[in-house]
Amino acid sequence: MSTGDLWVFVEKREEEINPVVFELLAKGCLLNEHLSGSVIAACIGKLKVSQRDMLSSYGAEKVISLFGEEEASHGSYDYIEIAELLYAAVKESKPSILLAGATFLGRSVMPLLAVKLGTGLTADCTELEVDPERNILLQTRPAFGGNILATIECAVKRPQMATVRPHVFGMDMVRRACKIEIEKRHYNVSGISPLKVLETVIEKEKFDITESEVVVSGGRGLGASAGFGLLEKLAHKLNGVVGASRGAVDLGWISNSHQVGQTGHTVNPRLYIACGISGAIQHLAGMKGSETIIAINEDPDAPIFEIADYGIVGDLYEILPKIIERLK
Ligand SMILES: Cc1cc2nc3c(=O)[nH]c(=O)nc-3n(C[C@H](O)[C@H](O)[C@H](O)COP(=O)(O)OP(=O)(O)OC[C@H]3O[C@@H](n4cnc5c(N)ncnc54)[C@H](O)[C@@H]3O)c2cc1C
Repeated sequence: MSTGDLWVFVEKREEEINPVVFELLAKGCLLNEHLSGSVIAACIGKLKVSQRDMLSSYGAEKVISLFGEEEASHGSYDYIEIAELLYAAVKESKPSILLAGATFLGRSVMPLLAVKLGTGLTADCTELEVDPERNILLQTRPAFGGNILATIECAVKRPQMATVRPHVFGMDMVRRACKIEIEKRHYNVSGISPLKVLETVIEKEKFDITESEVVVSGGRGLGASAGFGLLEKLAHKLNGVVGASRGAVDLGWISNSHQVGQTGHTVNPRLYIACGISGAIQHLAGMKGSETIIAINEDPDAPIFEIADYGIVGDLYEILPKIIERLK
């Protein structure tokens, strides 16, 4: 029998909490309005006081810190040990829902944990809701090559587990919990993992499209890779970065670190400008959360106009230079 509690796995990288945790807590608070339990942050190892305060301000009512019997010899836990710690804690507390970021770590830990718990896991969800009648988590994700959105239920087994990519949910749904409860637990995971972490190397990305407040994206409508030069000029003026549709990436016009969409990055900037992008569902999946969307397309029936706040019908090569000129 599960408790009705909703847990969020607190992922840390270089001792910093991954921002996706705050997005999940904020969303968890909304989901919890239909559940009977608490929103709990499940963290591995120690947390700073400022980090607990952050978790609290995004809605965590309680933090459970999980430790091995003795600190792992290399000072941190690998994904197998993390899965074991979570497994022991979940078995003990029986939460109803467990959410994690669809990050490299989340994607490694959660499937392992789901198998150990004998429950289901929906990866890469784009929406989560609770059916208020049945208190069941409705987990929506693209399926069949992204052509449909499937809503998946884990009807019997508990916890209901889902991962969500960073930036799918905003962090603006903040609810402050009154006083956060702290609990420490120790479980014996020593010797469980066959892995030995020798060194952790963090890749330094040149730019992070997901963090920018302005994204100027180009698609196949640019006609050639040179078109991205024009987008760079506009992005530069707006202090933004350049994004792309998969159509443009597949043509080799720009690297896939710029790709926005279902198989690229999810962005929710203050301003998204789509230039020569038709608005396929897989592209929309990665940018529909943007605050303001401007679309430039010569086809007045392009689907991108259905979600755009402002639409400009015409040739982007006539329109963009004029906008850049006006911004001088
Ligand atoms: C499993 C799967 C995953 C996918 N993941 C992604 C993803 O992550 N991201 C993504 O973007 N796509 C993804 N796709 C591909 C997606 O379905 C579309 O094929 C792709 O988004 C189309 O790119 P586009 O809009 O640039 O090209 P098109 O659909 O060819 O659109 C080009 C647009 O440019 C307009 N245009 C042409 N010339 C001009 C001009 N001079 N001025 C103004 N407008 C002009 C045209 O009217 C047209 O609307 C995925 C597909 C699958 C099956």
